[in-house]
Amino acid sequence: MIDFFEEVNKRKEDIIADIERLCEIPSVLDEATSNDGQPFGKPCREALDLMLSIGERDGFKSVNVDGYAGHIDIGEDEETFGILGHLDVVPCNEHGWNTDPYHVTIKDGKLYGRGVADDKGPLIAGYYAAKIIHELNLPVKMKTRIIFGCNEENGSKCMQYYFTKQPYPKMGFTPDAEFPVVYGEKAGVNFQMKGEIEKDNIIGIYSGSRANIVPETCEAYISGHYKQYKEDFIHYLNQQGLQGSLEEEGNHTRLTLIGKSAHASTPDAGINAAVYMCHYLATISENQLVHFVDDCFYQDNYGKKLGIAFKGLMGDLTVNLGVLNYKDGYASLVVDMRVPHEMTDEQLTMPIVQQLNKYGLEETHELGKALYIDPQSDLVQNLHSAYVEFTGDHIHQPQAIGGGTYAKSMPNCVAFGVEFPGTDNKIHQNNEEISIDDLLKATAIYAKALYNLIKK
Ligand SMILES: [Zn+2]
Repeated sequence: MIDFFEEVNKRKEDIIADIERLCEIPSVLDEATSNDGQPFGKPCREALDLMLSIGERDGFKSVNVDGYAGHIDIGEDEETFGILGHLDVVPCNEHGWNTDPYHVTIKDGKLYGRGVADDKGPLIAGYYAAKIIHELNLPVKMKTRIIFGCNEENGSKCMQYYFTKQPYPKMGFTPDAEFPVVYGEKAGVNFQMKGEIEKDNIIGIYSGSRANIVPETCEAYISGHYKQYKEDFIHYLNQQGLQGSLEEEGNHTRLTLIGKSAHASTPDAGINAAVYMCHYLATISENQLVHFVDDCFYQDNYGKKLGIAFKGLMGDLTVNLGVLNYKDGYASLVVDMRVPHEMTDEQLTMPIVQQLNKYGLEETHELGKALYIDPQSDLVQNLHSAYVEFTGDHIHQPQAIGGGTYAKSMPNCVAFGVEFPGTDNKIHQNNEEISIDDLLKATAIYAKALYNLIKK
């Protein structure tokens, strides 16, 4: 019986040292230095070179794919198991960090720094997992390819390019989300809806700036003196338990409504300010846009009123009206939908087009990819059982989510770690952190799971 945890512990100092070196590089997308061989800028290229050199230092073959991404091959076999991580990071706020974000600080058993948890730390954990299996000379039937991209945070163009040049591994995982295992990710679909609306007492409506967030505030400008709306609007806010205000602005009135923001994949966690505003405006206006929003989105985050409600193996289709702009008779909206993999484009689009026609609106959309791996498959079962072995956690089961992870970059790939249930590594935030215990535990889980999947 191999004690993977013991093997990981023996390499603790090396693991931390490699993470420290990678995190010294501020590998944020830098278009100003984008060039041949460094499409995402100089710092991302430096991080790529460093990762490649770590593989070479340890005697493995490293390949640079034109500065977009690279890989390290551990083992010789023809068939490949892929571990997919990324070297780019999101920018840091100037204020709010307690330590230098680009110099790893170790304090109270934790590493602090940009990238320690997303995703340089987890990438190194995956690398050492494969390295340990190799160093123990364990018999395997697949080599492990550690693949690392430089553009995950800005659209994963790295992997789109990489897989035009390199074959897909047979299967794999990405340590770029959470434990235990994410076997399903709904397709993200953005509908742009627009059209000309007959002008009336509504001058403008503005809410939201990103489709993937439930909009927190909405402002509406309506003609007429504010006194005529005041009582009505305040009554509406009170009735709904919402905050808001109204103000006189020249010869018109400005209404403001405050909802609650949330991620578009969990719209029930938010209060959509645009939708609640339109529900009010529908009582004082014939405006077709306002009535469309009120008829099709009010108290319905599941597309029932749009005629597209769908429940699949991954759960329900969800709908978020993320952006709403109306001015001088011209309306534009962006609606973010999270769509189960069983649903076809036609099933989704036809009912929406029919609805939009009634209100004189048109749509364009881009269909995203869903990911679904059978939760009973060898891949998911092996990953999950290694997780259970090292954590004793039988409660958290493999899950499907509405968000998207790096796993969508290749077939037969799932997200696996690195955040443990109940912990918050503050990814994309100030003071990003990972506990050393979690890091080592994750590395042991990766080694055990990988070995179970590739052993002879
Ligand atoms: Zn990430």
